Amino acid sequence: MKRTVAFEKNARNIFFHVLTQCNLSCRHCYVDPCRHGKKPVSLETARAWLSALSSPGGTGNLVLLGGEPTLHPDLPGIARAARKLGYGSITVDTNGFLFHDFLHRVTPAEVDAVSFSMDSPTARENDALRGPGAFDACVKGIREAVRLGFSVSVIYTVSGANLTGLSAMPAILTELGVDRFFIQVIGLRGRGAGAVQVGRWDWEGLVSAAALSAAKSGLTVLYPKVYLDEGEPFSCAGRDAENYFVFPNGRVYRCPLCEDYPVHAHRFQGGRLIDRPGITERRLFELTIPEGCVMNRLVQPGSIDYDASGKPLFKVACCMLKEEMSPG
Ligand code: SF4
Ligand code: SF4
Repeated sequence: MKRTVAFEKNARNIFFHVLTQCNLSCRHCYVDPCRHGKKPVSLETARAWLSALSSPGGTGNLVLLGGEPTLHPDLPGIARAARKLGYGSITVDTNGFLFHDFLHRVTPAEVDAVSFSMDSPTARENDALRGPGAFDACVKGIREAVRLGFSVSVIYTVSGANLTGLSAMPAILTELGVDRFFIQVIGLRGRGAGAVQVGRWDWEGLVSAAALSAAKSGLTVLYPKVYLDEGEPFSCAGRDAENYFVFPNGRVYRCPLCEDYPVHAHRFQGGRLIDRPGITERRLFELTIPEGCVMNRLVQPGSIDYDASGKPLFKVACCMLKEEMSPG
């Protein structure tokens, strides 16, 4: 079954980068210690920030990420603090190396899902993109997480370099006992700027086919909508949803495509979240353009095709809008 997952207007989603350090240097990585902070967030600060961002109903969804978040020795404490504050769903994104014996220092009651990054069905291709040993670490980590009873997902970042490997993923993920499969599109950001982008027809053909095959194998699959069909309404998550992208230096963004620029809408001052005055990303969200997503138009204009009169052939959706395919 396929459906478009619209932004949930009453749900708050917090993407909390607890540090920027990582043991890998993936080709498409966008995290930049110079822009996003070199010092890990302390447990005490994390608790204060999570408290400031928690929604009154206690239904916020939290994703803990980095860098590699398990390099943070207090990650289990941060997850527990979030649970205590009432966060409804807590996910940890990892490259699979699982430092500090992470999986044995939390329980499935404290962390709702562990999400592993794997960019190919083969160790050779995956490690060429992510770094030596990344594939084996990921497989080992997934098996252990499944054995311990965690809900496990896998994130596959698609580029021209690994598009063809996508079709082999469902069989591997099913064998490993993975529950959910997230396919994401590479952007012209960070080290990904040199990667090969995936065009519309490859995206809609190969990615949809792999998603369908994964759903038939019993996995729930989520992937960005990317292109809107004629007449489909455009909506900017920066304006219409409650997403917060938090970095160790206290920058807080509302749009993930803005993270490379000092245009964040908010920042933490002590334990308080404050709105930044002046020109911030919020000014962009107010704009209505025929191409759809303003940030996509600004940072990757080559992803849009135009007719002879200069009219865009399609609108690009917000990168937070997802298609979901589920079994049955
Ligand atoms: S594992 Fe994640 S944070 Fe580390 S280099 Fe790769 S993409 Fe960046
Ligand atoms: S990706 Fe585009 S549509 Fe989505 S929040 Fe950012 S500017 Fe808005």
